[in-house]
Amino acid sequence: MSLPTVSREWHLIARPQGEPKPEDFALREVPVAEPAPGRILVRNLYMSVDPYMRGRMSQLDLDVELGHKAGIRGRMNDVKSYVPPFQLDRPMDGGAVGEVVASAAEGFEVGDHVLHGLGWREYADVNAAQATKVDASLAPLSAYLGVLGMPGLTAYAGLFEVASFKEGDSVFVSGAAGAVGSLVGQFAKIKGAARVIGSAGSDEKVTLLTEKYGFDSAFNYKNGPVAEQLKDAAPEGIDVYFDNVGGDHLEAAISSLNVHGRATLCGAIAQYNDTEPAPGPRNLVMAIGKRLRLQGILVNDHAALQPQFVKDVAGWLRSGELVADETVVEGVENATGAFLGMLRGENTGKMIVSFTG
Ligand code: NAP
Repeated sequence: MSLPTVSREWHLIARPQGEPKPEDFALREVPVAEPAPGRILVRNLYMSVDPYMRGRMSQLDLDVELGHKAGIRGRMNDVKSYVPPFQLDRPMDGGAVGEVVASAAEGFEVGDHVLHGLGWREYADVNAAQATKVDASLAPLSAYLGVLGMPGLTAYAGLFEVASFKEGDSVFVSGAAGAVGSLVGQFAKIKGAARVIGSAGSDEKVTLLTEKYGFDSAFNYKNGPVAEQLKDAAPEGIDVYFDNVGGDHLEAAISSLNVHGRATLCGAIAQYNDTEPAPGPRNLVMAIGKRLRLQGILVNDHAALQPQFVKDVAGWLRSGELVADETVVEGVENATGAFLGMLRGENTGKMIVSFTG
């Protein structure tokens, strides 16, 4: 097969202020070259759009930037961003799965499928040392960006390791119809949670949570104060809170957590477009009396769990105990639209961009 001469890739051309706009991005054509020694040329088939990419569109890590704005000094100044910001007028990057179309690297053949970090483009010139072969016969290729990939491991590590989940716990998860949240709730049910409660941003998603994903109870956070809706859904309180949202969700969870409750602070998507620092939970003092543990997670710290995670999750998928939905948007030209749509809640399960159509 002759190689393509041109590929299209998405560049960040302006740093978004508040909610990103289509004009902050440009789809540009670039030449495609034969891979140099040690490298492979990959035709991307699926790419991931993830909430953390919003932070990379800002000059500084969002948390650090907002900390500076709030006048928080000292250690905050030393905190290194865990992923560097995207450069202006350069291709953005992120998780992708594709097919090797040319190889100058030992161990990689044309036709192999690989997971790698150069999404946001049709063809990727990848350092073979940073590519992982994946098996299309074991799972659909897009699953390596979702349930069997980074979001799946986040849910698994965040629930079982960071929140120290145990059978009989009552669990509340926000962002519950999304990639991470929908898995957290189902993992908890599979492992014997007494009760699983989810919140999401539409009535359709709420129905899905109880009817398809097996949550015991769910509510639409847009229909009323989160604290009240959570109290109604969990009159006996909760033992674990998996936070994907921050803000009023975290405050409500602190009020509902039982003594020795644990919260995994995974994300704060309600704040990612903020231009000013958001106030902290007003009831944080309750963490003292209730001896709560609120612990952040970065999925990259939990690579050691990978074998156990894949074994468990692949088994639950095979047995039908676990459902992993995807919202698939077709075409490289629609990738930024998929990203913006994900931030606005247009996805159920993992938001994927497919280049296979
Ligand atoms: P996702 O949940 O599939 O997609 C994002 C969802 O956020 C949207 O579908 C939307 O659903 C919800 N949302 C948007 N604005 C919101 C708001 N103001 N209030 C409440 N919900 C809002 O994304 P994901 O990939 O699974 O990520 C979920 C969270 O985990 C994010 O905060 C992400 O940053 C975090 N994360 C952290 C790590 C880590 O290592 N710490 C790794 C992966 C992900 P609704 O329709 O329900 O509003």
